[in-house]
Amino acid sequence: MRNDDFADRRKRKSSSVTFKNTDEIRYTSSSDISIFPPSSTSLDDEFTTIEDTTKTFKQFQYKAGMLNLISKKYESLDYDKMENDVLVNAEEREGYKYFVHKNIMQWVVFLLTGILTAAIASTVDIAIVEVCKVKYYLLDPYLNDNDIGFNKPLFLWMFLNVIPILIGSLMVTYFEPIASGSGIPLVKCYLNGIDLPRILALKTLFVKATGLVCSIAGGVASGKEGPMIHVGACVANLVSKGRMKFCNREIHMFRYFRDDQERRDFVSAGAASGVSAAFGASVGGVLFSLEEGASFWNQNLTWRIFFGSVVSTFTVNLILSAYYGAAGDLTHPSLINMGKFTFTYQISEIPIFALIGSIGGVFGALWNHSNYKLSVFRFKFFKKKWMKVTEACFVSALTAAISFTMAYFTKQCRPITEGHTIYTPRAFCEDANEYNLIARMWLQTPQASVQRLLHDPADEYPLIDLAIFTLAYFFLSCITFGLSTSNGIFVPSLLTGAAWGRMISTIFIMIFPDYKNRVDTGKYALIGAAAHLGGLVRMTISLTVIIMETSDNISFSLPIIITLISAKWTGDFFNEGIYAIQIRLKKAPFLPFDPPPMTHNIYATEVMNNNVVGFRSVETVDFLYETLEKTEHNGFPVLELENPEDDLKYGKIVGLILRDQILLILKKKWFSHNMHLWAGTVTMNIFRDEYLHKYRIEDIELTFEEKAEYSVDFRPFLNHSPYTLLSTASLPKMFRLFRALGLRHLPIVNDSNEVVGMVTRKDLAKFRVYIKKGRMKLHQYI
Ligand code: ATP
Ligand code: MG
Repeated sequence: MRNDDFADRRKRKSSSVTFKNTDEIRYTSSSDISIFPPSSTSLDDEFTTIEDTTKTFKQFQYKAGMLNLISKKYESLDYDKMENDVLVNAEEREGYKYFVHKNIMQWVVFLLTGILTAAIASTVDIAIVEVCKVKYYLLDPYLNDNDIGFNKPLFLWMFLNVIPILIGSLMVTYFEPIASGSGIPLVKCYLNGIDLPRILALKTLFVKATGLVCSIAGGVASGKEGPMIHVGACVANLVSKGRMKFCNREIHMFRYFRDDQERRDFVSAGAASGVSAAFGASVGGVLFSLEEGASFWNQNLTWRIFFGSVVSTFTVNLILSAYYGAAGDLTHPSLINMGKFTFTYQISEIPIFALIGSIGGVFGALWNHSNYKLSVFRFKFFKKKWMKVTEACFVSALTAAISFTMAYFTKQCRPITEGHTIYTPRAFCEDANEYNLIARMWLQTPQASVQRLLHDPADEYPLIDLAIFTLAYFFLSCITFGLSTSNGIFVPSLLTGAAWGRMISTIFIMIFPDYKNRVDTGKYALIGAAAHLGGLVRMTISLTVIIMETSDNISFSLPIIITLISAKWTGDFFNEGIYAIQIRLKKAPFLPFDPPPMTHNIYATEVMNNNVVGFRSVETVDFLYETLEKTEHNGFPVLELENPEDDLKYGKIVGLILRDQILLILKKKWFSHNMHLWAGTVTMNIFRDEYLHKYRIEDIELTFEEKAEYSVDFRPFLNHSPYTLLSTASLPKMFRLFRALGLRHLPIVNDSNEVVGMVTRKDLAKFRVYIKKGRMKLHQYI
């Protein structure tokens, strides 16, 4: 094809776009593509058709659990700096000293984030240990008395499980529902540029942390690592804001961090500190933030985030070492530690690791699918709050019932020797100096059980018990994740995987008894743990490093990497990772790393909203007020008309102004006629302080006279050089611009620099591959 043919094709597509009324496009490279209309032109109709009248629009049918929808309720964050005269003046006035100061303060925020996250993580850990001790002491007399029968200890165990879960679930469900679950999907969304209300608030932090203590003390299959990451993100946000809504105090020291971009960097660091505090894995924390969280990254940030992570690990160790009576021992293990390993491995074992990884991928995919189906069921049937609380209590009672029944029937008794933890319940063992192995596995915290599975001698656990435990834990962890409580899946997955990993090696020893001394069951438990977790979450780099750091064994990195990669590839063959599924279920407009494939023939004209709402540089207050009332747009191109009488639609772009800015201008009454009164007083600090207030148009009170006679001059406030693209730009080009720069709005211009459309990140998020029988389905707005 000749060059001018190409140009011609683009031009043709850009000049006359026909939107066909279907929600699917053919997954083909042909230029004859029909797509779902880009965005609604009127706010009233949710699924509008634009110009086409030739076909009737296929009525959209919502079904719970649909994965290809985007909710209109989410707004986006704006990571592009608003470069306007106010900013330039501030830079000139504040000078270079300001940047040095800001730089130092950034380090202070990273430091404080690390310390506070670690302090909260340690407090949560200590609270869990103490509450679990109380629970155990209450239960122990009943478990030690063999004549007491089956029912009494069972009901007491159930009761002691239900009480903390009830408290945690009531808090999460009624006080702050956004604190439910692991929190990792929410942090990922935030870092991707989605503004989820209240996800980083103080209330969320409080409910998340206390809810977490309740969940683990409630004995359900839940871990604290995911929620810790959310806690870290909340801490970073609150520290960097320098102001807490709760106590309404402002720290002006951190004023200059009040914009979306700065906050995003701190939240990435907070997430990393959370991982570090939870696992004692500083490098793993940084890599987690890089792999899973941060959509935007730079070298400076890496260094600072690493600093925050190290501080966090160090602080946790400091606090916990004091708590466990070894004050000052900074090598004290963190919240989760898998103990020290001295494994060796042979090259012949590599295929076995890959095989176990693949099994983990299959189990992970099955788990994810079952959990997805369960989430859909919950959406459909557990809509009322009391139902959610009841469900959480039911699951905790069920966990107790399963644990107790298993302990009762298996009766695996082992002698109590020195060095055992307090959790040595006799639980129907004949000898008073023996404890019930299975009862201990269920009673102690899940992470303690992981450690035991990794380190106990080869013949400690009978095959049948491991099999029952694996099945029970797989089922329980699946029904627990998604409850209206604060809970994570890292440790439950490690535990399930460790159980079946150990099972595999036990079977091997049974088949080939000669290899008994050469097969290390703990090693395979670790590989199984990695495989199962990898199969669920599909992380590779960060998980490898986290496991390496928590197991203190760097030479074991190759088996872990091979296992995790096999788990990921196998799992990806069936479905997405659990966090991706959760994000889709939330209908969040998440932009993945890469644009959808084979979309170079979709042009800006097919994505944009061509009914542009823009303003002149000087606009009447009345018109502004009315426009803001009528539309929900958050960014408006500022246009220059050759002839003032022309339609606003055909103006050349001279800048971009945000809704928040216009609302602030109206609120402060910075009108043109009284410019002499306010011109000298408008500083960047006002914008920084007001960043924390989100005004709505209803909050603006204007007199009739102000509306009718006054006007606003946008020139000092607008972004004079917003990113724009020609209407001939392809979808991947726009996508990369949004993804790399964290844009929220992109005005589309023609060759005369006239704005012909607007594209937002949500418009692009809609283009997600969802291949079914060779077709690409577009996400729909709901
Ligand atoms: P956000 O609210 O985060 O800015 P959005 O996608 O929700 O993003 P809205 O302004 O709420 O954008 O409106 C929905 C549609 O309107 C989008 O599809 C977008 O393309 C379009 N749009 C955004 N700003 C304008 C504008 N100034 N003029 C015309 N259309 C716009
Ligand atoms: Mg919007």
